[in-house]
Amino acid sequence: MTAKANIVVIGTGGTIAGQGKASVNTSTYMCSVLGIDEILGSIPHAGELANLRAEQLLQTGSENFNNTHLLAIGNRVAELLARNDVDGVVITHGTDTIEETAYFLHLTLKSAKPVVVVGSMRPPSAMSSDAALNLYDALAVATHPSSRGLGTLVVANNEIHTARDVVKSNSFKLDAFRSPYGALGYVIEGAPRYYRRPARAHTLDTPWSITTLRSLPKVDIVYAYGALEPGAISAITANARGLIYVGTGNGNVASHLIDPLRDAARRGVHVVRASRTGSGIVLHNGAQPDHEYGWLTVDDQIPQKARILLTLALTQTDDTAALQAVFERY
Ligand code: ASP
Repeated sequence: MTAKANIVVIGTGGTIAGQGKASVNTSTYMCSVLGIDEILGSIPHAGELANLRAEQLLQTGSENFNNTHLLAIGNRVAELLARNDVDGVVITHGTDTIEETAYFLHLTLKSAKPVVVVGSMRPPSAMSSDAALNLYDALAVATHPSSRGLGTLVVANNEIHTARDVVKSNSFKLDAFRSPYGALGYVIEGAPRYYRRPARAHTLDTPWSITTLRSLPKVDIVYAYGALEPGAISAITANARGLIYVGTGNGNVASHLIDPLRDAARRGVHVVRASRTGSGIVLHNGAQPDHEYGWLTVDDQIPQKARILLTLALTQTDDTAALQAVFERY
């Protein structure tokens, strides 16, 4: 019999740590009230998968997470992964921004050991809660050797997603997590099965290491519509180093917003065209002459992940061509 893996489970709050008044309260409940020991203690078979150690790092809904939270989670996970007596890390997390934290870890951790981020759409107290099974599945994924070298993973609803692609795509249903090119695999009866691997560079193959990141530059997002006023662009870019402009369709820019965005670029703000459609590619020099205006495009990234990527890229360069290359590689 092979020895069980040593897995550290980090609690940060969210619905998976939530509690409702009654089992019928699937969507009305207090978030972030159960401690990680309590959550793990309610899954008796979890200890059969691995030697578990629990740590409560945060206890808050993920809608509150800012760059400081990302750095705190990343630094703690990196410390744990560096230890010989830790084989993998599972992070329980609110689902609202799980896709951003997971992508940040995917790009900044320097380890092949499995890191799995997991949440739930219903609190453990609700009927048909997904909390226990999602966490059990996440542990199963983290303990398994086939999960090594895949970067950070998000487990939900029996599926294993790459942190790069996964997005919360429904506000209340259990089946809320989607990756535009499909999940990497499934988890069934406590074992993962993979059918594909992440194609874009991550973890050991990126230039960003969590251990050297002290602070993160300010990158903001603006969601565009025809009546958006030019003043909104200047207000939001006043102190920002980057702006993800979430345009209509293929990152289109209304005529009256072209000058404000060009002004922002002239002031040194890196303007990146994204799309509010939720999927697809924003083609560089397609809908707008990006090269002439000094603008960038996201490739296929959704705005909230493009913000993470630009934030990291700006820790190393201000060169427009180098920044565009980052969007094509990660
Ligand atoms: N508001 C919660 C959070 O993201 C929702 C959830 O966990 O599903 O922390």
